[in-house]
Amino acid sequence: MNKQEIANILEEVASLLELKGEDPFRIRAYRGGARAVLNLDEDLRQLIREERLTEITGIGDHLAQVITFLSEGKKWPLYEELKKEIPKGLLEMMQLQGLGPKKVKALYDKLHIRSIADLKKALQKGKLAHLRGFGKKTEEKLLHAMKLREKGTGRILWWDAWEMAWPLLDRLKKSKGVQKAEICGSLRRKLETVGDLDFLVAAEPIDWVMKTFLGWGEEVLARGETKASIRLLSGMQVDLRVVTLDQFPFALHHFTGSKEHNIKIRTHTLKRGWSLSEYGLEPLRKGKKAPPIQSEKDLYEAIGLSYVPPELREDRGEIEAAAKGKIPRLIEEREIQGTLHNHTTASDGRNTLREMVAKGEALGWSYLGISDHSQSSVQANGLSEERLYEQVEMIRRLNRTKDWKIHVLAGSECDILPNGKLDYSDSVLRQLDFVIASVHSSLGQDEKTITKRIIRALENPYVSILGHLTSRILLERDPTKVNVKKVVDAAIANRKIIELNGHPKRLDMDWRYWKEAAERGLLCCINCDAHAVGDLEFVRAGVNVARKGWLTKEAVVNTFPLKKLLPFIRKNHNYSDTSDEEGGI
Ligand SMILES: [Zn+2]
Ligand SMILES: [Zn+2]
Repeated sequence: MNKQEIANILEEVASLLELKGEDPFRIRAYRGGARAVLNLDEDLRQLIREERLTEITGIGDHLAQVITFLSEGKKWPLYEELKKEIPKGLLEMMQLQGLGPKKVKALYDKLHIRSIADLKKALQKGKLAHLRGFGKKTEEKLLHAMKLREKGTGRILWWDAWEMAWPLLDRLKKSKGVQKAEICGSLRRKLETVGDLDFLVAAEPIDWVMKTFLGWGEEVLARGETKASIRLLSGMQVDLRVVTLDQFPFALHHFTGSKEHNIKIRTHTLKRGWSLSEYGLEPLRKGKKAPPIQSEKDLYEAIGLSYVPPELREDRGEIEAAAKGKIPRLIEEREIQGTLHNHTTASDGRNTLREMVAKGEALGWSYLGISDHSQSSVQANGLSEERLYEQVEMIRRLNRTKDWKIHVLAGSECDILPNGKLDYSDSVLRQLDFVIASVHSSLGQDEKTITKRIIRALENPYVSILGHLTSRILLERDPTKVNVKKVVDAAIANRKIIELNGHPKRLDMDWRYWKEAAERGLLCCINCDAHAVGDLEFVRAGVNVARKGWLTKEAVVNTFPLKKLLPFIRKNHNYSDTSDEEGGI
């Protein structure tokens, strides 16, 4: 752990103790310690090695012990306990102007407010008015502080961040003196939303690339010899770090994160007799020599691990797997053979059937599913049974013409009605090549109701795929309160596929559920939920999060060739009450 991280933890502990109403002297001591660490002129690791930490003003015996402990990547029991005891949201609330620890504590104790989101709701309902110490003025101040915060910490979708970042990366690479350039941070880890853009560059000399970079800024937030931060016109913060070619793989690893992954890696490295930092790998004992390291792959190898792709670096078992050489070969975009969830002008799409098919063919896919909305989705111009039949006929004709190599599958994105019934009768559904069942209405149902509703739909023999499980819209609409585990169980039991909706605003079912679900046998279909030809490229966003969910090609049905795919999406089509359920494939 570096000094910034150690200082952050000391500061956080001070705040947590403050929330508990602990001894002010103790709180001041931790806060002073944080400042002392941050302001160190000497190298922290050297001070620790030479046991000279207590020479620094503000660092006593106890703090010296804690800092040594943290620098070795060990867990500090006090910190761990406090984190368990106090909701994380309370700390965030303390960062709002006008909210000190006492007020945050009162909000938590009296109104059970645990986060900024809770606070916002309470304010809107006027609940704070009756609380002692919270007058009208405080309310106004808080609303204002919240607005500021939303502006300042605004995250954007991965897709939008990527579109912003890659041209910049391109320009950095072409800048004079640049030997290597890469994107780091959550953008490189393909997290669904991104807070800022981080670039890393190896350059010699530094001046040229620095000048190029600063030139892009609407505002320069900070500039040093080897690092700088700017704000773009869009409001996005962009950070640049310049290192030497030798440091590049270490810095790339360090700035890619995640924080949790890095902490674990450092502990692992220490156990093997090395100390890892953003600058290099150093032996703990003199005489040992680090092997030459030119890439992240070399770096992982040097510490006895197989390479961990950036998407997996979230401390979800990847280090343990890498130690055993068991990192799976993750799915790749080129393995996708087609997608099934696509709309046309028949419902709310912006391109015609033929235009969508042409684009699918141009992407080199071997099949394309068409799944327009069903009749209850009036706002999306859902298809009546009659119009659906017409579309099916049109698709069959289109396949017969052999104008295209790509095979078009006739399906539907059929609404799951509030009671769990489907929006078309079974006699209609059975004529389709596949059926995606999705929730589009009554999103506010309680957990029990909505879970039962979805499971009921999964039990329908003609449903092949469950569409966007939680109906969330990232940064706009919260997910429905569905019990994901129960739905996954039901999907496995009924041999249904769950979609990974690749629309950059959805990325639903969330990647955090996929590893375990796939291990238990759940199959995935990565879809685009395309409403226009360009949206078919969203498959990349879907593959990104599929990789974060540890999915391999074998777990994703739309990497299968058409012949192999069909039984999975049509498996229960000959279902009748008397038929043996095992009869499907
Ligand atoms: Zn939908
Ligand atoms: Zn859709």
